[in-house]
Amino acid sequence: MNLPFCENYKIKTVESLYKSTTAQRLQWLKDARYNLFNLRSEQVFIDLLTDSGTGSMSQEQWAAIMTGDESYAGSRSYFKLKESIEDIFGFRYFLPTHQGRAAENVLFSALVKAGDIVPGNAHFDTTKGHIEFRKATAIDCTITEASDTALNHPFKGNVDIEKLEEVLKSVSPEKIPLIILTITCNSTGGQPVSMGNIKEVYRLSRKYNIPLFFDSARFAENAWFIKEREADYAEKNIPEIVREMFSYADGMTMSSKKDGIVNIGGFIGFRNQELFRKSSTYNIMFEGYITYGGMAGRDMAALAQGLREVIEPDYLETRIRQVEFLGNSLSVAGVPVQQPIGGHAVFIDALRFLPFVKREEFVAQTLALELYLEGGVRGVEIGTLMADRDPISRENRFPKTEMVRLAIPRRVYTNSHMEYVAATVRNVFERRENIKNGYRITWEAEILRHFTIELEKAQ
Ligand SMILES: *Cc1c(COP(=O)(O)O)cnc(C)c1O
Repeated sequence: MNLPFCENYKIKTVESLYKSTTAQRLQWLKDARYNLFNLRSEQVFIDLLTDSGTGSMSQEQWAAIMTGDESYAGSRSYFKLKESIEDIFGFRYFLPTHQGRAAENVLFSALVKAGDIVPGNAHFDTTKGHIEFRKATAIDCTITEASDTALNHPFKGNVDIEKLEEVLKSVSPEKIPLIILTITCNSTGGQPVSMGNIKEVYRLSRKYNIPLFFDSARFAENAWFIKEREADYAEKNIPEIVREMFSYADGMTMSSKKDGIVNIGGFIGFRNQELFRKSSTYNIMFEGYITYGGMAGRDMAALAQGLREVIEPDYLETRIRQVEFLGNSLSVAGVPVQQPIGGHAVFIDALRFLPFVKREEFVAQTLALELYLEGGVRGVEIGTLMADRDPISRENRFPKTEMVRLAIPRRVYTNSHMEYVAATVRNVFERRENIKNGYRITWEAEILRHFTIELEKAQ
């Protein structure tokens, strides 16, 4: 008999969770203006808001914290991190930043100007925010299969190569400062990009002489999927696959809060010294000196270790199987979840889950709020609220899909927590026909509105 799959870690420190009542949750949600970001963490039983910065560090990472070097310049911990980045990604130059969006801010300050076009596969919200803030435009060239949530395609993060070439052909090269490939693609559901597609994007980037950067928050999960799903890579090990992936990039931005398995941090990796130098000035202005850039020495030490742990096969198997376990528990109950299950999260298709809620009343947000009321489970809306208004017309942008993302923190929850989450979702699914009213906006910010939005119930 095959032994069952189980976690590859045991628990050394525990944190208690508080199970609230439905009455408490109703009140808390009202006080939070129906924005789950406004809840206090004690008000949440299972927190699947994000996998960002919410992971558990290993005993080796905690040990690294204790020996971190806090020197302003030339810290030993900086060199440890530099060594990890060179070994794993092959980039000689790097700049630490306080998180991923800071890496974007620094890099785009050096590269992106008003009127520019930045093509890629479904840019992440902060990436798009930083592009649009500079009056430039992000163009999404993801394959059309990505928006059909029921379709089982192995690499839904892939770029439509023809579409990308159309963009590259139609605009003069000096207006395209870089191409950004997001691996895995968060906005299409934590879906991977194949090595074959990476190579094709690389080929176009050489043909048109445009730098190619990877937005690499979940690079290790992407590598796992390449090994599992792309025939030529089944026999390669994860570090080899990662090295090959990054051999096709001119640089990377990284949110270390995901596949760095640390609670804060980020960096930019560069192949080109000139761009590294240009970006260094912005790093010093916005982040800190080039050998710490917004990170404490001890945090760089923990990241240097986390990057090595995240490419271990036992870790990655546990990670991917746990997310898949939750996804399959929902699928078998008939809950419409995105297929195939992504690397860091399960995405529930809210348009198919709640057919009676109007688009104008924020379907995915309505579902996320129901899951919280039902079982104290906090997910996040990836739909019309997150899509923001069109920067010119100021109309709501209705994306092709409305999703609720249940993101699984790394090494935090057990499979029994996943069973609890699945039961919560199934309970809401059973009463879905009674959910008809959504929500209305009472206040919103100009950009990245979903973080701070205030809502009221629609009648
Ligand atoms: C999280 C994330 C970012 C931004 O990183 P932060 O650390 O949250 O600032 C950028 N791109 C992708 C794909 C991400 O998942």
